[in-house]
Amino acid sequence: MADYLFEPHAPTSIPIARGGLFAVRRVYCVGRNYAEHVREMGNDERDPPFFFSKPADAVVVGGASIDYPGQTSDLHHEIELVVAIGKDGSDIAQAEALSHVYGYAAGLDMTRRDLQALAKKAGRPWDMAKGFDQSAPVGTIEPVSAIGHPHAGAITLSVNGVERQRGDLGEQIWSVAETIAYLSGFVTLKAGDLIMTGTPAGVDAVVRGDVLEGTIAGVGSVRTTII
Ligand code: MN
Repeated sequence: MADYLFEPHAPTSIPIARGGLFAVRRVYCVGRNYAEHVREMGNDERDPPFFFSKPADAVVVGGASIDYPGQTSDLHHEIELVVAIGKDGSDIAQAEALSHVYGYAAGLDMTRRDLQALAKKAGRPWDMAKGFDQSAPVGTIEPVSAIGHPHAGAITLSVNGVERQRGDLGEQIWSVAETIAYLSGFVTLKAGDLIMTGTPAGVDAVVRGDVLEGTIAGVGSVRTTII
């Protein structure tokens, strides 16, 4: 056995539909990828999307409940299409980009909106607003071999059965292929990486006891309860 001071943490793993586990390496996120959400946040829709990230162990699977985090009184939901990378690459051409995708899932980019607003105002990083513990519930991964590549279809989120967010994957400013091409120009993508591709309009606050259910047509769902 290697001379580790302590046993290394096992990777966070996401169940794959029809069996197997997807071990998570890194979690990248796209900011401002749907024009209507850009507008609701008071930003200029002509500005291009951009990237931030969450820690891999912020991912929560299996519909597990999440704890309402500290240091916020404005925890928001953001339903997102999650891309699961299955093949390494850097400077990936847009025409080749989709060949790097293993599969897709529905996910939630939970956000401490009040801390994010403070960070924006002060020109500070978003890590504590976006990358806190349990901030990324993700549903089962559906392989491309089963569902293909979704280019359009409803993406919705309900809280306690009442719809809050609704958009269509076809409204994404950067397509999945464009996102992979741009991101792989900044970092080498590797199998195990996730990309959360941004949220449609309708983001809002949740409280303890709320049940969140996100659905993406042709992909699947993600569910969690805030406790
Ligand atoms: Mn987001």
